Order: sequence, then structure tokens, then C-alpha cells
Amino acid sequence: MNSICVYCGSAPGNDPAFHEEAVVAGTLIAKAGLTLVYGGGKVGLMGAVADAALAAGGKVVGVMPADLVNQEIGHKGLTELRIVNSMHERKWAMAELADGFLCLPGGPGTFEEIFEQWTWALLGFHAKPCGFVNVNGYYNAMRALVQQMADSGFTTQQYADMLIYADGTAEAIEAFRAYVPPPPKWGVAPVEQRY
Ligand code: AMP
Repeated sequence: MNSICVYCGSAPGNDPAFHEEAVVAGTLIAKAGLTLVYGGGKVGLMGAVADAALAAGGKVVGVMPADLVNQEIGHKGLTELRIVNSMHERKWAMAELADGFLCLPGGPGTFEEIFEQWTWALLGFHAKPCGFVNVNGYYNAMRALVQQMADSGFTTQQYADMLIYADGTAEAIEAFRAYVPPPPKWGVAPVEQRY
């Protein structure tokens, strides 16, 4: 594993523990020698993760659509800021660049991004881990909903269980390194049919 994509709030949230874990995440990712891939923003928890990784001497790659950069929320101090044409292109680029997908607390964008990667993982489009740092139980309700999906027959237990939940980023990185993907739902798709 050479890189981790972090999805998290473009807002800071209202629990100081969220910001604290964002700083821990950026620092640990950098210190583990992993490249941080993220949405490229300077705001909210996103900005905090990136700043912490840079401060710890890490490599940080942001991927952002041009219109968001132009609204001046792009982070100007990154190792690399990739400018793309659309949100779809952005999510695809982030997915390609990363070897695992880690969520800190966040809003709709965070959920959209991680659910996309979970879906691609269970379809066998990639074999990369998806996980959550469950700061102060932020993801408990979502975890219960995913279990309800499995209990209701909309996914299977092995696909619910492939999501990693950790109390902290250090534990998440360890679990990512040990991750073994389940067999894909329909077999492995040919590269040209993916996404
Ligand atoms: P949200 O959780 O709704 O705040 O959305 C955060 C996620 O969506 C991040 O992981 C980003 O990839 C993307 N995103 C949403 N808003 C922004 C923004 N202002 N700047 C950069 N990325 C954003």
C-alpha cells in the first residue's frame, strides 16, 4: 500500500474530536510513508488532514474540478493539485490514485464517495479496502443501516463485513494492510467495462 484516499467533511463538524482525528490521520498517513490522496480543498476536515500530512513531511495529492478551484477553496500548498473537468472525473481519479479509502466524519459528499468505492469493491472493479474512523461513534448509525441492508437481503453479510471500522486512524491503517477482499459479486469485470 503506497497511498490512502481520505474522504471527510468539507465542514469541520461541531465536535472538536473530529478535527483532532483529522490531524492525527494526516500525520499518521505521512509518517507511514503513504501518499495522501484527497479532494484538494483547504476547508473543513479536508483542509486539516492535508495540512497535518504536509506538516509531517508527507506527499499530498489533491484532485479538484476547475470550478471549485476557481471558487478559491483549492489548497494552494499541496505536493500536487490535479485539476479535472467534473466531479465524476475527480472521483475516478481519486479512486485510481489510491490503494485504500478511509472516511473520517463527513457529510453527503463523504458518504457518496465511500459508497461508490464500496460498490466498486464488491463488484470486483478494484480490491482496495474501504474503512471508517468511527470518531465518537459518528458511523454507528450508518453501520447499523448497512447491517439492515444485509438482514433485508439487499447485500450479503460478506459485503457488509468488508467495511472496516476503527476507533482511530492507526488501527485503520493496520486493518487496511491486513485486508483480504471477498470474492466479487459477479466475477472480475474486464478493465474496459469498469466504471
Ligand atoms: P461533504 O462530506 O459533503 O462535506 O463532502 C466532502 C467530500 O466531498 C470530500 O471528500 C470531497 O472530495 C468532496 N467535497 C465536497 N465539498 C468540497 C469542497 N468544498 N472542496 C473540495 N472537495 C469537496
